[in-house]
Amino acid sequence: MNHKITIAIDGFSSTGKSTVAKRLAKRLGYVYVDSGAMYRAVTLYAMQNELINSELVNKAQLIEQLEGIEIDFKFNEDLGFAEVYLNGQNVEKQIRTLEVSQFVSQIATISEVREQLVRQQQKFGKHKGVVMDGRDIGTVVFPKAELKLFMTASAEKRAHRRYLELIERGDNVDYNAVLKNVQTRDHIDTTRADSPLTMADDAIEIDNSDMGLDEQFEYVLQLAEDKIKQCN
Ligand code: C5P
Repeated sequence: MNHKITIAIDGFSSTGKSTVAKRLAKRLGYVYVDSGAMYRAVTLYAMQNELINSELVNKAQLIEQLEGIEIDFKFNEDLGFAEVYLNGQNVEKQIRTLEVSQFVSQIATISEVREQLVRQQQKFGKHKGVVMDGRDIGTVVFPKAELKLFMTASAEKRAHRRYLELIERGDNVDYNAVLKNVQTRDHIDTTRADSPLTMADDAIEIDNSDMGLDEQFEYVLQLAEDKIKQCN
């Protein structure tokens, strides 16, 4: 027998959650879901539909239009992971800009947005065999997940990683702007009223400030394999 489990990976921005989650899902033959991409897609929708003006989000109109916002993931064989689609359009690249990052945490404070996305995330994980990363996966989306990880690293390390990623993509960004964005999002994510970022009591904390990607992956893989064995 090989029962599949649910793996929830939460933590601060740019802690490398998605890198480790993608790799883990691939190794285990599980589905990977990037819940942050869903909040980013709603943010992109708001930007494209002029629901954000002079830094202010028009919450009432966004809530009214929520039913018409369709978010899907489609597996890209070449890339080896699922890309996010907004109303049928591939927006994987557009949702990763600093501009979207600057508004996404505000959008993620809106309870109606969270309700809709959490419902969809729970559907994705209905049959287990899922690795999902985000901020509230172990606390709200899958409070019964068999394995919960909580990733942290210093704000400077995280900003440096995100800066290099953006530069590599060809975005012309300034390190200090990236650092400020990381710090602002940490603040909004940990202090919001609905589903704030917090470590579940039964999560394992991983500070990866001084860990290499392979070292981190091997550690997480071991935790997952041990847990899967225990559950079978
Ligand atoms: O993971 P990523 O950095 O792409 O997430 C973008 C933002 O989406 C976070 O800063 C947070 O505000 C929001 N988010 C959330 N709950 C999740 C995933 C992301 O509130 N489960």
